[in-house]
Amino acid sequence: MSDATDTYQGFKSGFIAITGAPNVGKSTLLNTMIGQKISITSEKPQTTRNRIAGIAHREGAQLIFLDTPGIHLTNKTFNQKMVDVAFSAIDDVDLLLLVADAARPDKKSEKIILERLQQNRKRPVLLALNKIDRVSKPELLPLIDKWQKSYPFEAIYPVSALEGTQVKDMLAALEGLLPEGPPYYPPDMITDLREEFILSEIIREKAFQLTEEEIPFSTAVAIDMIEEDAEINLVYVYAKIHVERDSQKKILIGKNGSKIREIGKAARIEMKRLMGMPVYLKLFIRVEKNWSRDARAMRRLGY
Ligand code: GDP
Ligand code: MG
Repeated sequence: MSDATDTYQGFKSGFIAITGAPNVGKSTLLNTMIGQKISITSEKPQTTRNRIAGIAHREGAQLIFLDTPGIHLTNKTFNQKMVDVAFSAIDDVDLLLLVADAARPDKKSEKIILERLQQNRKRPVLLALNKIDRVSKPELLPLIDKWQKSYPFEAIYPVSALEGTQVKDMLAALEGLLPEGPPYYPPDMITDLREEFILSEIIREKAFQLTEEEIPFSTAVAIDMIEEDAEINLVYVYAKIHVERDSQKKILIGKNGSKIREIGKAARIEMKRLMGMPVYLKLFIRVEKNWSRDARAMRRLGY
């Protein structure tokens, strides 16, 4: 019998949960680390509790990033309960990657997250201080110092997900913290998040971001159709936004349909970036009473 070192010949693999407050750049960082567009063709069913948000394939390692509930959420939907859900879903990971915004500290969210980390010191945590392209050097050092004092992080990496600064170094550090293990997934697989879920989250996020009036947390988006026309290089996406009241429908439609057009445009731009091809997006709004009490809604939201 050979020991583990022989078995995997030094290959490292493991599961890394990404967490952090809304808008700190988790999705951008994930895309930069994966280095590829998310494929729209994978239609694998969800089998695990934690969804795989992306896999970074490296020479001697496979870093599997998990999507914790809440990583898609925006400020309006971020609260203590969401953080609890996120943390309860990451019990089996090898490593935690906490992302924070170096340019615009969010004291409230940071406090909630740090408290939760303190209660749960089971696994190593690496901190990515993101958006350093917006921070001057003299500002950065005290910031790193402040974070260092707040928690015993394995390491702190100032990065820019947008410009790619230090992301490679951070990946190497993450790799170093992983145990030895087999490559769990084939080299061409970069995500198993279903395209339907990703697209609905994009629409939901834009709807939240672009409405000044409160759109309730119960707002859910269902994708009715995704069809690719390879000949003219276009993806058709038909989606329904579910709300509970006529007043909410009115907010979403806006004056002469201006709001829904704005939401559609912003969603289309992001979908195009993700899928690498132009998108024709058709949005419908449907009023359905008591939608939030419907268990289906929660499932569609990904919990
Ligand atoms: P998430 O909510 O944590 O997933 O954050 P996103 O990845 O959606 O990013 C939120 C916003 O921050 C977007 O407008 C990004 O373009 C921007 N952003 C992300 N990373 C960086 C960065 O390194 N530098 C700058 N300047 N902006 C960034
Ligand atoms: Mg995100």
